[in-house]
Amino acid sequence: GKWVYTFGDGKAEGKAGLRDLLGGKGANLAEMANLGLPVPPGFTIPTSVCTYFYAHDKTYPPALKAQVEKALEYVGKLTGKAFSDSKNPLLVSVRSGGRASMPGMMDTVLNLGLNDKTVEALAELSGDRRFAYDSYRRFITMYSDVVLGFEHHHFEDILDTFKDSQGYTLDTDLTGDDWVELVGKYKEAVARETGRDFPQDPHEQLWGAIGAVFSSWMNARAVTYRRLHDIPESWGTAVNVQAMVFGNMGETSATGVAFTRNPSTGESKLYGEFLINAQGEDVVAGIRTPQDITEEARQESGSDKPSMESAMPEAFKELTRFYTLLEKHYRDMQDMEFTVEQGKLWMLQTRGGKRTAKAALRIAVELANEGLISKKDAVMRIDPASLDQLLHPTIDPQAKRDVIATGLPASPGAASGEIVFSSDEAAKLQADGRSVILVRVETSPEDIHGMHAAEGILTTRGGMTSHAAVVARGMGKPCVSGCGAIRVDYGRGTMSVGSRTFKTGDVITIDGSLGQVLAGKMPMIEPKLSGEFGTLMGWADDVRKLGVRVNADTPEDARTAIKFGGEGIGLCRTEHMFFEETRIRTVREMILSEDEQSRRAALSKLLPMQRADFVELFEIMKGLPVTIRLLDPPLHEFLPHTQAEIEEVARAMNTDPRKLADRARDLAEFNPMLGFRGCRLAIAYPEIAEMQARAIFEAAVEAEKRTSEAVGLEVMVPLIATKAEFDLVKARIDATAQAVMKETGKKLAYQVGTMIELPRACLLAGDVAQTAEFFSFGTNDLTQTTYGISRDDAASFLGTYVSKGILEIDPFISVDRDGVGELVKIGVTRGRKTRPNLKVGICGEHGGDPASVAFCHEIGLDYVSCSPYRVPIARLAAAQAAL
Ligand code: PEP
Ligand code: MG
Repeated sequence: GKWVYTFGDGKAEGKAGLRDLLGGKGANLAEMANLGLPVPPGFTIPTSVCTYFYAHDKTYPPALKAQVEKALEYVGKLTGKAFSDSKNPLLVSVRSGGRASMPGMMDTVLNLGLNDKTVEALAELSGDRRFAYDSYRRFITMYSDVVLGFEHHHFEDILDTFKDSQGYTLDTDLTGDDWVELVGKYKEAVARETGRDFPQDPHEQLWGAIGAVFSSWMNARAVTYRRLHDIPESWGTAVNVQAMVFGNMGETSATGVAFTRNPSTGESKLYGEFLINAQGEDVVAGIRTPQDITEEARQESGSDKPSMESAMPEAFKELTRFYTLLEKHYRDMQDMEFTVEQGKLWMLQTRGGKRTAKAALRIAVELANEGLISKKDAVMRIDPASLDQLLHPTIDPQAKRDVIATGLPASPGAASGEIVFSSDEAAKLQADGRSVILVRVETSPEDIHGMHAAEGILTTRGGMTSHAAVVARGMGKPCVSGCGAIRVDYGRGTMSVGSRTFKTGDVITIDGSLGQVLAGKMPMIEPKLSGEFGTLMGWADDVRKLGVRVNADTPEDARTAIKFGGEGIGLCRTEHMFFEETRIRTVREMILSEDEQSRRAALSKLLPMQRADFVELFEIMKGLPVTIRLLDPPLHEFLPHTQAEIEEVARAMNTDPRKLADRARDLAEFNPMLGFRGCRLAIAYPEIAEMQARAIFEAAVEAEKRTSEAVGLEVMVPLIATKAEFDLVKARIDATAQAVMKETGKKLAYQVGTMIELPRACLLAGDVAQTAEFFSFGTNDLTQTTYGISRDDAASFLGTYVSKGILEIDPFISVDRDGVGELVKIGVTRGRKTRPNLKVGICGEHGGDPASVAFCHEIGLDYVSCSPYRVPIARLAAAQAAL
């Protein structure tokens, strides 16, 4: 088998298309080499070796060793050096690189190949002993940490003690001789603590590092990261071994990262950071504050340190040429790492850059407008779920801001919450339903769960490409990074700025778009959508076949729906119109009435409220379809619970509270979700359906009068299991419609249809469609009744089901295609067989879930209906399903 793929000197054995085998990093290094870009030569050990490694008790394919040796020779030939040569040693980096990017999750070793002999050669060759020994101590530190499991902080302690003894404050105060002495101390510590001398044989070093990288695929943080990002364990990682180039060889050397477009805003301008005389990880680690790349960016930031453009004009010119080429080649925004070694630019990595949803939209639209991709490509490039990010609130600009400090605007949006200083604490409080802001000096991959739990993230160190910034942006959470004015004291649980101190539990707000940290909770406002949003949604609308409606119960919902492009109301849950305090009292009167007369009395109080609501909804929807569902109250949500509530209702009904309490007890159910709800209510108490129908039709007459536009009226009966149920309720509705038309002298067009949300209704859909004029699948109840899992009680065990792999995903979130989906298909087929033009939609929560939307498209539904904020997601998901 082929276990090694070389690259360098304008050619490579791999290419971008071999990503699954070579990992993202390896594939793109090969691609850049093929494009003739200056890539330090090296080779990739593919993911197939990782698979072998885990399948064979952590051993390698027998042929690997010889292939690695040959590749090392090849790299040596290209660089004019030789591995473990004592005169001109080849030094390499060893890095992981899987199919999907997992930033910072796995391990890296730099400067490998250094030992007591080769370090002298490096000193000789570079003419810089300090540099050579600094490199050696970095290698010992990284290697010990990654391969020998000897933690970083041991070395920090040695270094700090040494600096104190010499009266130094900065690392740069150390001389070459100091580093020589420290290297000795480092090696002693390793020998003492691990019981073995630090390995001097470069070959042993290399195999140690390769094994460590493969092993890091299964470390705890990588496992967590994969779980959160749905990355299969079976993919494995590749290992990249590459000749070292040094960004820390003095003032003509540098290292940096750059994006071909701004990853926060999408603006088409080279964007990035670099550090003069620094090595690879220094930029990402956020220890020193990086410098701007372009002169324009430096002017904007007001930095007093020179930009790369002015400090290294030649290398900058090259970078400009390469980034333009790479973006054209990949037809996407690129995130690149580079190093300048004594004036010469080397490209170390390129990949599709992570970006905010806002930037993704702008980039996709602009790339399409530039002709680099098609409009369809642009539509496919946006993850529907990511649109959530654009719909996040921002701080009301009218509100007075008490700015505590300002850092970098690392990830847009704003959030308020209680301060927490640890990720475990963040996760704990979030589980209790509290909102928290995670405050850290800097974050590391160990903080992922805390960042997930927090509403927003604040760090006191680190740049725009620091871990916190990159990860927060990916998560769509607001983040302020590098807020140096704030001092964090983990021990005391405080953060302070000047004379102000905030402690754990105090509420702050962060504005990730401006980089501000504010005291207290701030009023938020809804976001305005950019021009690109409208453009892309327009392109999506051009290709999608599914209609997108909204589940809206209030005028406010309806307005939001219209703003986001909803094409009608697919479900108005009329019981939700009664949650408001004064109304729920009247609903309770109605429910608790013992006879028809008192029930009618309560209903007559509800009628005008309902009518007014409907008039407003119809007016807002301006002739678009509006599906109004008759009352479907799970009784337990409406019964009075406390003594005070019982007394209040008793007063209104003029009855004895004790009698009323008895009645409430009589009505209490063991399984309210399967109890006296849905059409069962309208069948037992037809006067309820009658009141609602009257309110609906009278409102339609009124709205048509006001707007002189026909209302797209659809009346819907919930939770039917038999045609007879439906017919009985439909008869009531039709009779009421006739009565209202006669009274008002106005003709109304309307349809009467039904929810299909019980398995029996799916199976008998052919019968039901004889009289039902439309279907709307209620997949919430259909999932509940198909699985026999209570909607209200599922949370206590479904998590276990998902973590044990019994279910891939909670079926209340994403539709279960095999079971529930099959019933939906049966319902559609049988319904349309009876009534070929039967209109069919879905209004369960699944209507806003991208995977479920795709399913609805596949089985030929007419529309999905979802909550207002998910309308754009559904529109985009519907378009992607159609492409
Ligand atoms: C459903 O069951 O899917 C539905 C939309 O109705 P509700 O959630 O109100 O029961
Ligand atoms: Mg339902």
